Amino acid sequence: MSGLIALVPVGHVNSKLLRIFHRIKPFEFYTFDTFKPFDAYDDLRRQYDALRVMSCLKEFASSHGFQKVLGITPEDMYYRNSTSVFGCAELNGVAAVLSTYRLSCVSEEVFLLRVIKEVLHELGHLFGLEHCANDCVMRFCERTDLIDSKRLGYCKDCSKKLKNAIRNVRQTSQARYCTPGDNRILCTSNR
Ligand SMILES: [Zn+2]
Ligand SMILES: [Zn+2]
Repeated sequence: MSGLIALVPVGHVNSKLLRIFHRIKPFEFYTFDTFKPFDAYDDLRRQYDALRVMSCLKEFASSHGFQKVLGITPEDMYYRNSTSVFGCAELNGVAAVLSTYRLSCVSEEVFLLRVIKEVLHELGHLFGLEHCANDCVMRFCERTDLIDSKRLGYCKDCSKKLKNAIRNVRQTSQARYCTPGDNRILCTSNR
């Protein structure tokens, strides 16, 4: 596989949005066609169940030989008792998912910046980064105005940890895929 991270559109994600992923460094993506996670959409709530989506994404990654997968959906999403979430990720795990539903903004530029920041944030978790108190994209933000004011990038400490984590994944990419364990899941909720 050429990409380090499998990028999986969950539902219809516009192609312009998918193209910005080429600008999201230091990650590399391999973009798949739209994927419909089985039984993950709650028709009554009109939301995806983040836990169910991540579970399907993990199976997807496993069957396609990827160690990391990021799902992105324009639909609203919830996680356990949270009414809605921007994104969820397994800490140092396999799957992360981002909903762009509540990141929308009249300004397309602002919207795209929010998406990029949230992608960096969730991928940071996926590569083992925890929340960070520095001026850093790993700062925990539960509202869009806080996302808007946080830095578009990692602080020095997080950058260093991330580089090492990415290197480790590359080194073990030929290793046999193991059944994913139960990694701690971190979510950005918007209640
Ligand atoms: Zn977080
Ligand atoms: Zn940081």
